[in-house]
Amino acid sequence: MKTLQLIISVFLITIISFDAYSQQVNQKYILVVHGGAGTILKKNMTAEKEEAYRVALIEAIKAGYNLLKANKSSLDAVEAAIRVLEDSPLFNAGKGAVFTNDGRNELDASIMDGKNLAAGAVAGVTTIRNPISAARAVMEKSEHVMMIGKGAEKFAKEVGLEIVDPSYFYTPDRWNSLQKIWKEDSIKKNQDKADEKSLKLGIENKDNKFGTVGAIALDSKGNLAAGTSTGGMTNKKFGRVGDSPIIGAGTYANNNTVAVSATGWGEFFIRNVVAYDVSALIEYKGFSVKEASRMVINKVGKLGGDGGIIALDKNGNMAMPFNTEGMFRGAITEAGKIEVRIYKD
Ligand code: ASP
Repeated sequence: MKTLQLIISVFLITIISFDAYSQQVNQKYILVVHGGAGTILKKNMTAEKEEAYRVALIEAIKAGYNLLKANKSSLDAVEAAIRVLEDSPLFNAGKGAVFTNDGRNELDASIMDGKNLAAGAVAGVTTIRNPISAARAVMEKSEHVMMIGKGAEKFAKEVGLEIVDPSYFYTPDRWNSLQKIWKEDSIKKNQDKADEKSLKLGIENKDNKFGTVGAIALDSKGNLAAGTSTGGMTNKKFGRVGDSPIIGAGTYANNNTVAVSATGWGEFFIRNVVAYDVSALIEYKGFSVKEASRMVINKVGKLGGDGGIIALDKNGNMAMPFNTEGMFRGAITEAGKIEVRIYKD
């Protein structure tokens, strides 16, 4: 009996010390960002373009990190990081957003506070320079969670956010992507050979969507926050709303579990309730952030969707799984170590 007790206690001490050891060697992350997932291949990227993406991601990370280090909230950090990415023409959010089927930019964004599960979102907006700030205003200055279109724009103006002419969002690259699809569409129509499944979804080129942005953060008080901002998918039907502004699909944060921001083929992320599912697996099944995130992305893949997520738990463990060729992504540890990646590891 004594021998058995001895074996059990040695076993337990080994587990506890191994756990303490891995906590020590594991870095604590406090801010993670993404700049969209898709068919991002090194062979299609010039060195200059790759560098430009890295610089923009690092700038966003630093904007959020500096606030966290100044004891500001994770919400402030998420909003600041996303505003940098919205202002960059490289990403499909704010300036540089993709075009709808009728040649407009319709923007979606959402934000969530893990402390009290407060959330805000805007969808289909065309004149708000930084939709993430409008989402935050909906959360903090209205009694609602989501506002859309003209109403959201009126509200954003009333609370003093910057309003721009819709032409502000135009970039030649995104416009050319739409022109390419229009051209392909007319050829397809003539040949009458269009892919039925894609037609049903109303999105004929799912690869024309890179660059949605997102950020998640953990502040010194242990509060998690998450935010996502996008122009959606090139050639989306006018009025289409993806997962990015939908709380629980594209964005979720709960101090007891995790903060998540998603990017990918929105219809599949909505149907899989992706961001909340990661939280639920952690809360109800005791999964680690890595296990939960991987399982949810695998589920999206099984249904035929593609994309990725960034997830950060309350202890500063993070995961960035995706099932596409690449995902613009980056993170910073509490000590200030920055990691930025684009392709598959
Ligand atoms: N999820 C976004 C949407 O479907 C697009 C993306 O993340 O690339 O609107």
